[in-house]
Amino acid sequence: MSFSPASIKSKLPRVGTTIFTTMSTLAQEVGAVNLGQGFPDFDCDPRLLDMLNAAARAGHNQYPPMAGVLALRQAVADKVNELYDASYDPVNEITITAGATQAIQTALTAIVHPGDEVIIFEPVYDSYDPVIRMNGGTPIYARLPFPDFRPDFAALRALITPKTRAIIINTPHNPTATLWSRDELNQLALILRDTNIVLISDEVYEHMVFDGVRHQSVTSIPDLAERAFVISSFGKTYHVTGWKIAYCLAARELMVEFRKAHQFIVFTVHTPSQHALANYMALRTHETLPEFYQAKRDYFLAQVAPTKLAWSRAPATYFALASYAHLDAYNQLSDVEFALKLARENGVVCIPLSAFYSNGEDNRVVRFCFAKKEQTLALAVDRLKTL
Ligand code: PMP
Ligand code: GLN
Repeated sequence: MSFSPASIKSKLPRVGTTIFTTMSTLAQEVGAVNLGQGFPDFDCDPRLLDMLNAAARAGHNQYPPMAGVLALRQAVADKVNELYDASYDPVNEITITAGATQAIQTALTAIVHPGDEVIIFEPVYDSYDPVIRMNGGTPIYARLPFPDFRPDFAALRALITPKTRAIIINTPHNPTATLWSRDELNQLALILRDTNIVLISDEVYEHMVFDGVRHQSVTSIPDLAERAFVISSFGKTYHVTGWKIAYCLAARELMVEFRKAHQFIVFTVHTPSQHALANYMALRTHETLPEFYQAKRDYFLAQVAPTKLAWSRAPATYFALASYAHLDAYNQLSDVEFALKLARENGVVCIPLSAFYSNGEDNRVVRFCFAKKEQTLALAVDRLKTL
């Protein structure tokens, strides 16, 4: 008898290739401008590359400490303290991870047991649901109702059961580009106050908040911070998504459990990039990121205004939503059909919003990423005008 791969019972029977990979592949195949997957098409600061080179040349090429290079953890602690008035001990409460994706996976793996429920808000980033399931948990869907995408706290309260192990929030939010207000975080704190529910706060877009508004971090609300894993990504902040490097903050006892899982999932993270980022953080370039991306947002939204699509304002992140619900020539198409048509016939790739819903909810809205060079955006705009 030979081995039968079909004998493997899939842990993720309904999961295919992610929408981001699918749409980036399509962009290449049809030669479309790729405003789908969220990554910059411009390079990072050359000084960061010099620091990476210097770190490797200085011999930082073996395993770093399991929790990450201490100088980088210290730089993160200093930044978080300055921005959010929060105190995290770099030795015991900060861990460097191989991207936010790994941090989310590790936090869930550390705490979710079979039968546990984890509440997530849809539209939702695509990695949360499968990781909950791989750990034997059940994702429970709260909604951020279209078109404002504000959390509904009465509905959230009704979803909490004795089985609720954790809640995941994401602010600023992918894909809707909205952010939670301080009042909303305080309402969440009230709901969680007398529970043992863990909070996982995905804040990878913390430095992309526009129009003078400030990101409200879970780290700045003690009642939330004490029960939270807070995650951010150097990849997003420093234009190096391919480096896959991020960090997780958590109170000491939570971090003990996180590290138990971390050491067997990845053990450590690429050493030279950690040294490079530790040095680079001293240049404080995250302070200019809002201005940098706000200029891109303003340019993009001004240029696309004359197109037939209806655009939302994008107060944060590097994503903007566009609706075609009012266009009779297109609104019979599902958002997936529309995105495919736009790629093949108009030469621009976007992401259909239904990909972020468990039930395929389709409001005839698609997501565009404006983390691109001006010439890329200009080309995309020319093509979008052909709609
Ligand atoms: N969370 C959200 C909301 C994201 O949009 C992304 C990726 N773009 C990630 C996590 C993953 O970040 P990383 O690339 O650092 O794994
Ligand atoms: N987070 C990015 C996005 O939303 C892509 C990351 C990925 O491809 N997994 O487009």
